[in-house]
Amino acid sequence: MKKPDWRQSRRLWVGSLLVFLALFVLGWGFESSHPAVFQVLTGLGFAVLVAGAVQNLLFCRCPHCGRSLSYLRMLQPAEFCPYCGERL
Ligand SMILES: [Zn+2]
Repeated sequence: MKKPDWRQSRRLWVGSLLVFLALFVLGWGFESSHPAVFQVLTGLGFAVLVAGAVQNLLFCRCPHCGRSLSYLRMLQPAEFCPYCGERL
């Protein structure tokens, strides 16, 4: 598999966040009736979230200077790298 670039990495991160929320909300419906289902769904959601965060730390980097863009640019897509000033 090709390494994702920083845009794909950011999308994966946001996607993993949404999957986590969806599984958590879904699991919440089973919280009182089937606690085991709730635990499995939230556990799965948490695993997806951690995987998304790890790939974000690894791949969400400036293609010019290699510095991490992960948290800084999660919501606002940047035009230029805040470290080296190159166009992203
Ligand atoms: Zn840079």
